[in-house]
Amino acid sequence: MNKTFFLILATSLWSLAAMAQQPNWESLSKQAAKTEIYSPVPKVITAGATPQDAPSDAIILFNGNNLDAWYGDDSTKTAAWDITGAIMTVNKQAGGIITKQKFMDYQLHLEWRVPINITGEDQSRGNSGVFLAYLGIANKYFESGYELQILDNYNNKTYVNGQCGSIYKQSIPLVNICKKPGEWQTYDIIWKAPRFNADNSLKTPAYVTVLQNGVLVQDHTVLTGQTFWIGNPTYKMHGESPIRLQSHSDPSEPISYKNIWIRPL
Ligand code: MG
Repeated sequence: MNKTFFLILATSLWSLAAMAQQPNWESLSKQAAKTEIYSPVPKVITAGATPQDAPSDAIILFNGNNLDAWYGDDSTKTAAWDITGAIMTVNKQAGGIITKQKFMDYQLHLEWRVPINITGEDQSRGNSGVFLAYLGIANKYFESGYELQILDNYNNKTYVNGQCGSIYKQSIPLVNICKKPGEWQTYDIIWKAPRFNADNSLKTPAYVTVLQNGVLVQDHTVLTGQTFWIGNPTYKMHGESPIRLQSHSDPSEPISYKNIWIRPL
């Protein structure tokens, strides 16, 4: 066997071996297709110009013009918070406001600002809050439901399960990312309402994920019941509920809100 013939033979054998190792794409594609899903197709929506802007399928709860989406505290009153320059400010004499529409599971965006001239300390400093499902007034005076706390905790100490970003009296926020008074802050909330059995017993608890100023502060937190100021959380059967923004009774200066939108899930 001369050298040239050997080289040709070796090259040919290598080429044949390489061809034998070529993947059969048609066969592989068929296997891969077994784990591809083509429906339901996610609805196409349009993003806002920034992540804070409502996407095209959101329900606008406050866009700066009016409080048409809101009732006063007990749903018999007109919402009477003050609107100035596309911003609404808590009116402590008027009480809290609740959404006219009721919700189960949702994604909620809102922005708030503690006034730059805020005074007070502990829980009496820019206290408001988002009642993720509002269940009315309990014990004559105190609200019932599930409260995501709003409070000025920029250099203001309080009990950690009652600071800004907490699920009040239930879940400490992962971090304190409070901005200074005078600066706008955001909450982006994913709320999964609790479900109940026909006998009113709890079927599945509520879950909440919260980003404050874009940072995770509640990570798929499981709730152990409604928030109470006094006593431990417990569940009471309910279905769709309004969302409430709190007017807290402390004497500190009222906070403001803007750009509130929701996407029922
Ligand atoms: Mg509060």
